[in-house]
Amino acid sequence: MDAEIIAIGSELLLGATIDTNSAYLARELAAAGVNLYRKTVVGDNAERIAQCVREALERADLVICSGGLGPTPDDVTREGVALALGRPLEFRQELLDQIQARFSAMGRTMSESNRRQAYVPAGARAIPNPRGTAPAFLVEDPRGTVVVLPGVPYELRYLFENAVLPYLREERGVTDVILVKTLHATGLGESVIGELLADLMQQANPTLGISAKQARYELRIGARAASRAEAEALVARAEATIRERLGPNLTGDAPLAETVVRLLRERNLTLSLFEGAAAAPIYRALARVPGALDCLRGLIVHPLDQPADERAASALALAGARDAAARWGSPLALGAQAAATPDPSGLTPVCVALVTPEGDREVTRRYDLRQPEGWEFVATLALDLARRYLMGDAA
Ligand code: ATP
Repeated sequence: MDAEIIAIGSELLLGATIDTNSAYLARELAAAGVNLYRKTVVGDNAERIAQCVREALERADLVICSGGLGPTPDDVTREGVALALGRPLEFRQELLDQIQARFSAMGRTMSESNRRQAYVPAGARAIPNPRGTAPAFLVEDPRGTVVVLPGVPYELRYLFENAVLPYLREERGVTDVILVKTLHATGLGESVIGELLADLMQQANPTLGISAKQARYELRIGARAASRAEAEALVARAEATIRERLGPNLTGDAPLAETVVRLLRERNLTLSLFEGAAAAPIYRALARVPGALDCLRGLIVHPLDQPADERAASALALAGARDAAARWGSPLALGAQAAATPDPSGLTPVCVALVTPEGDREVTRRYDLRQPEGWEFVATLALDLARRYLMGDAA
């Protein structure tokens, strides 16, 4: 089954509200094995809503709309959908009764404008909304099925789970299982990863998607099958290929910082940090991981007070890491120090050192530290140095 999503609301077009409903619906549809090919955002205008719905029905079997079911005159989704399907709006007494009952339960009087919410396109199946006043509905039309849900995210989620999913499973035979597994990698350029995995990325099932963030990569394997066991087998096969091709650059099932914390805990080791920049990127990356602070012994933040070139920065990173390890008696310490000035291309040499009982490791890279995200590359570099040591690589 092919689906499209239409998010309705002028506040979405103005950027005042972030369209989280479409992201939620997209995840749920994928998990239910429904193909999603397009998402659209449109303002509260009946003609434009109708045009979007008509166009979506030319491509998809299922169109899910959200928003614009309120009682005010700018909530025109009902009108837009009715227009698209060429059906008049019809009044449903049972919907008005439900709205009235909800107001009474809240100890409030229903206002006259709420009557608008008791209208649905002719032939629509009303979906009662126990979480709010706006009833939802679905219309089975020869061109396809249109489902209309309220914009309030928690109402939409409730109705999707309790009404739309059961409808898709029980009445539309949507039974495929889609399994998604995410792996994490670092240490290679994005183009190199792309080349190593090009054939997997072109496959239709399982699919492989890669997203990059500050030199860390998320590899999402998605498999579709008639049963969970078959989907798991497809994922496992793709995972084995990825492991073989990326080798030690694959950091595991969890993001890098989480993996480092897990490895420290498993090996009962503690870590101290020396950060030669107030941004303290390594500490920040680690501190986001629950339980990380149990593995951290101490932190020295010492922004550079002397001009330093690459060699001096390297010496400072190592001296700082040794100082931190000695001061807190931890077996491991990471130190990071950037040179004082960038090179003519705007990139700054950054030196990272790892002190271990078996000796020191050092690495230098160049990053654009004029952007705050630049510091996150430093965290990736440092944590990956620790990760490789903890995994026992000869990195
Ligand atoms: P109600 O009558 O209960 O307000 P509704 O269908 O009319 O429901 P809207 O008026 O469009 O919904 O939106 C209600 C709330 O839901 C607003 O606070 C809006 O910001 C939020 N909302 C609407 N659409 C989305 C969306 N696509 N993603 C996230 N939030 C949304």
